[in-house]
Amino acid sequence: MLYDLCLGGVSYPALHLALIIVPDAPLNIYDLTRSELSDLLVSIGVNPAHTARVWRYLYWECAETFAAMEEVPARARQALASRATIGVLPTAIETDSGDGFTRKYLLGLTDNERIETVLMRFTGRVTACVSSQVGCAMGCVFCATGQMGYTRHLTVGEIVAQPVHVQRALRAENRRLRNIVLMGMGEPLHNFDAVMKAIDIFTDGTGLGLAADRITLSTVGVVPGILRLAREQRKPFHLAVSLHAATQAERAAIVPAARKWQLDELMAACRTYSETTGRRIFYEWTLIEGKNDSPEHARAVGRLLGDLPAQVNLIPLNPTQGYDGTPTRSEAARKFQDVLIHEFGIPSTVRQRRGIDIAAGCGQLAVAEKS
Ligand code: SF4
Repeated sequence: MLYDLCLGGVSYPALHLALIIVPDAPLNIYDLTRSELSDLLVSIGVNPAHTARVWRYLYWECAETFAAMEEVPARARQALASRATIGVLPTAIETDSGDGFTRKYLLGLTDNERIETVLMRFTGRVTACVSSQVGCAMGCVFCATGQMGYTRHLTVGEIVAQPVHVQRALRAENRRLRNIVLMGMGEPLHNFDAVMKAIDIFTDGTGLGLAADRITLSTVGVVPGILRLAREQRKPFHLAVSLHAATQAERAAIVPAARKWQLDELMAACRTYSETTGRRIFYEWTLIEGKNDSPEHARAVGRLLGDLPAQVNLIPLNPTQGYDGTPTRSEAARKFQDVLIHEFGIPSTVRQRRGIDIAAGCGQLAVAEKS
């Protein structure tokens, strides 16, 4: 009987439930927005007034079990445990970089697949680099994830569980997670709906509570996804677009996805996005010595971006087994920046290299072996 466990003498008509609950199917509670959690409580006969407390336990206290939610009535905890799980991802391997700034987690999924998540410490802030897929279908030649190929999308709960995992580790240091970058394994816009729902959960003010501008989503240039972001006027998270080359032929040689979404089509989509949202895009450029790092390449970037509101993030190549390239030296990177700012007025940064010794840098995430 639906209302057998109804608490506080309140009943809630099942007809009003927005969430469709399939009897007996195990529910990962990290899949749910706060209003869906409220619906779930109703469906199991628990007073939805407990939603806020359960939500806080999940995302503030990072509780791993319902039993640990001591301020939630015991009957409600039992009802939750009988209907849902907390999809904590077990750590298979945890590795710290030599300088102590970076920690990489190899996390297990229920189907025996694995993903990597990275905790990065910068002065005054901690960032989680989060994966959106097992592997990636985009095949960027210099990227270890691309070299793995694509296995599957992550669910909302599997995406959400990653920053919660990082936050759980930070609690011991009395610190809070401040930023999330969707730059781990996978192409986030290939898994659009799950990633957008995860962002809604990250930015819920009473959970992880991240401001939208603390989140950056990086895409290789999935044009339909960029246009959809422009249309749907989502929360104002940052969008980063990986360019790496300023001509169609050069780009297609590094980024196979560019054969599907050509450079002119991509730049038109970026213009639409910036004009519709009023937001600047971060353009990412992996600096590969002798390949795309000359002043002439910088001029090509400047001409390509033209009057678009832009910042360029320069990322010296990180080594991977499957690509024989060398990172640009700092002097050449500085000259590249000089051209961008002095000849085109385009600001740029050179990304700090972190976690290279544990293969946790940009483009290095991969999973060696399944258990
Ligand atoms: S760089 Fe990003 S989009 Fe390209 S293969 Fe790697 S994970 Fe996929």
